[in-house]
Formats: sequence, C-alpha cells, structure tokens
Amino acid sequence: MIKISNYIDGKLVGPKKGKYLESFNPAKGQPYAIVPDSDASDVEKAYRAASKAFTSWSATSINDRAQVLTRIADLIETQLDSLAKAESIDNGKPVSLAKKVDIPRSAANFRFFAQAITQFATQAHEMSDGINYTLRQPLGVVGTISPWNLPLYLFTWKIAPALAAGNCVIAKPSEVTPMTAFLLSKICIKAGLPKGVLNIVHGDGLKVGSEMTKHPNIKAISFTGSTRVGKEIAQVAAPMFKKLSLEMGGKNPNLIFADCNYEKMLDTTVRSSFSNQGQICLCGSRILIERSIYGKFKKDFVKRVKALKVGPPERRNTDIGAVVSKTHYEKVLSYIKLAKKEGGKIRAGGKAVFPRGYKRGWYIEPTVIEGLDPYCRTNQEEIFGPVVTLIPFDTEEEALEYANATEYGLSCSVWTENISRANRIAKRIDAGIVWINTWMLRDLRTPFGGVKNSGVGREGGFEALRFFTESKNVCIQY
Ligand code: NAD
Repeated sequence: MIKISNYIDGKLVGPKKGKYLESFNPAKGQPYAIVPDSDASDVEKAYRAASKAFTSWSATSINDRAQVLTRIADLIETQLDSLAKAESIDNGKPVSLAKKVDIPRSAANFRFFAQAITQFATQAHEMSDGINYTLRQPLGVVGTISPWNLPLYLFTWKIAPALAAGNCVIAKPSEVTPMTAFLLSKICIKAGLPKGVLNIVHGDGLKVGSEMTKHPNIKAISFTGSTRVGKEIAQVAAPMFKKLSLEMGGKNPNLIFADCNYEKMLDTTVRSSFSNQGQICLCGSRILIERSIYGKFKKDFVKRVKALKVGPPERRNTDIGAVVSKTHYEKVLSYIKLAKKEGGKIRAGGKAVFPRGYKRGWYIEPTVIEGLDPYCRTNQEEIFGPVVTLIPFDTEEEALEYANATEYGLSCSVWTENISRANRIAKRIDAGIVWINTWMLRDLRTPFGGVKNSGVGREGGFEALRFFTESKNVCIQY
C-alpha cells in the first residue's frame, strides 16, 4: 500500500489525527493506497502556513514567481511517463490518454500562467483634473477544490493562476484520485516553491472541503465538481461574501445537421461521447441529429462504438478503461436501467464488462440509447459515464429547443457547413462554450465556464487572474 501524505508548510506530513482512507485502483476494483482522512485541524495548520508565506510570496517579483512555476512545468514534463501511469492507476483512464492529454495539459497550465502573469496589466482612467489607476492585488489565502475526472489537469488549472497572481493556496484534490496531487507536492519541493505557498490537504469533501469553505480567513473558493456540492458551497460561502468560482455539471448537446462534414463529425462524435469513459464535463451526452440523416448516423455511429475496446487501462489498444469508483459504476449502471424503464432502446453496449484478469474492475460498455423523450430523466440528468442518447429533430428551432431544455449549460458542439446557421445557434444556445465543427479544441486564453446550473464565473486566461485578484482604484487629483 502506498501511503499518501499531505503537503503543508513545505513538508510531506501525515494527518494530525493519524486517520487514513483507502484509495482504489478502478481497473482492479482493489485498494492500493491510503490517503489522509484530514479534518479541520489540518486545514487550520495549512491556513497558518499559507498565511505566514503570503507576505513574502505576494511581494515576490512576477518574474521570480513565473520562474518557479516554469520549473514545476518542466519537472511535470520530465516525469510524463510516471505521472501518466500513476494517473491511470488512480483513475482507470487509459495510460495513452493520460500521456496525451492529462499530464501535458497539467504542465501547460503552469507554463501558461507563468507567462500570462507577465502580460497581466491594469487600467488607468484619465479625467480633466486627475487620474485613476487600478491595482490588482492578490486576495491572500485562497482555497481550491477539484474533482476526480481529470485529477492533475483540473487541480493545476486552479492552482497555477492562484499562485501566479501572488496568492497562497490550500488545495484539496478529490479523495477518489489523490495520487498525482501527492506526486505534485514532491515536484513543488524539488522546484523550490517556497514553503507554505501551496498546501495540499487530502481527505473527504465533508471534512476538508467544507472546512475550507467555512474558514473565515480563506478569501475565495474555486470549485470544480457536481452541481449538488457547488450549491452546498455557495450556501455557506455566499453569506460570508467570499469570492466564488463554481464549475459544475453538464448535459451537453451535440447538434448534428445534414449538411455537416460527415466523416469529421462521426470521428469527433465518437471521441466527444466516450473519451475518458464519458467522464469529461465537456463530453456530449445528448446527440441531436437532423432526421434526414438519423438512420445513416445511427448505423455508422453504433458500428464505430461497438468497435471500441473496453479493457485494462495499461493495454495499448484499450479505448475505454474503467470508470472511477464502485459508487460511480453503480450510478452509471442504474441510469442504463432507468433509460430502459423510460422506454429507451439500447443500440450498443448497456452492460458491465469483466475483462479477463480484471474481473473485479469497474468496466462498462460504451452505450448508445435511442427512443427516449428529450424531457425524460435520462435526457435531463447528468450521468457522467459512457452513455449517450440519440434524439432526432426536424428543424433548427426544434434542435435549439431540445439543446436548451435542461438545467445545465456548459458546452455544446454544432455540426453544420452553413456558417449563418452556426452563428445563429452560437448566439441562442444556453452554453458557456460553443464548438463549431469540433470538440475540445482549447486555447487557454479563452474564458471557460458554464451558464445556468453548470457554472458561476469563468476560468482561463485573464479571467482566472482577475478572479484571484481584487481590484483597487487609486484616484489622484492633479
Ligand atoms: P463532487 O462534487 O462530488 O466533488 C468535487 C470535490 O468537492 C471533491 O474534491 C470533493 O471531495 C469535494 N466536496 C464534496 N463535498 C463537499 C462539500 N460539502 N464541501 C466542499 N467540498 C466538497 O464531484 P466529483 O464527483 O468529484 O466530480 C464529478 C462532477 O464534476 C460532475 O458533476 C462533473 O460534471 C463535474 N465537473 C465539472 C467540470 C467543469 O469544468 N464544469 C469539470 C470537471 C468535472
């Protein structure tokens, strides 16, 4: 059993009360590590360390801060193979995916914000008899709380801008996937990040996450996770007037029109449905197809989905690994059952898989369902697994109506060669992120986040640096 430690005040330490939780390898369905079951006392210890470090970190020059962050990025890159393997064991995702996406993006997060902070400028407003200039100052000690689906990728997406802007951070990774956050602690020590600037406190959401939210001196919470937990955090943090950034659930639509580039759409739709076992907040789970190509699309899509290989994440030819936990596995299977009860017809998958030698792992076939009402629970609630539904539509208006008919509004993909239609839809769709003829094409400078119950606030680029700083106007009369 690997023993994971907290990272507080520059040191790897156990939880104060000495308690640990088990961490599982989803490919085998077995525990393989223990992770601190930290509580309020560990959060307080981390707060003290962060608070002490703030004076000097916030006064450290931008170039010096950027240099440390760049060293962290370099070290992540040199450890690409081992980090990818660790991420795969912890999460169940194919090693190939972690190597191509998760770990390179984690390094890119640090490198990007190391550069972005050197370009971050403030405004001046001139009057006839005076001038205003605006300072943007770090908030102090801030909290970040992240989920299990892209563990290191999303963990660093928050930490990097917070540190670049001069804050000290208490970061809580998901207790379901703590391993790469632990490995990052060692990288931070090696990179020479001053002690207390970043503190990683592992443990349960109800103990560590909620204690961070309640803490009177943690000035902001940047959260990514479910809408249910986002709501709980908002209820506690809002009356305390904390700054809040909430990136939450989704039920993203793909809108496929008959005039699309069919082959590109088909390839991308297979990826946007099932990458990371469908456990990416940006995956399209409701596939809306213009009726004139519905039959052809269904036939081709189902054929491609049936060819996907479900298996152990370390195997080279695995397309779909294990889902992250037993609880999540049972949740996803329960939604397939619900879909059948609601009248859905399973056109591909629909069952658990038990690969040889991995019989206790949590594998589910990529599943395609049709015949459901767009307003039924299966089409309204977030499943967050390898399950998509097919829904035909006749007109652009009808496609938009279905696309907007959930409480969520994170992202969407629109497939059409008609540029006017693409722009019309982009304007009217309830989503923070609109992809036209693509999916997951990311530029880290762009605003990232959702509308409705998918999000409050934006991450990415200068939006993130604005979130992690407070503006202060200074007015001088000539
Ligand atoms: P979750 O909400 O269960 O947990 C997220 C984090 O919050 C974990 O670290 C957890 O320990 C912590 N937490 C739990 N209860 C808490 C509480 N009461 N107070 C403070 N913290 C608490 O989410 P999850 O199951 O880890 O992740 C899956 C969800 O994340 C999905 O809904 C998915 O859509 C969403 N997600 C959203 C985005 C986005 O950018 N919008 C990205 C990735 C994942």
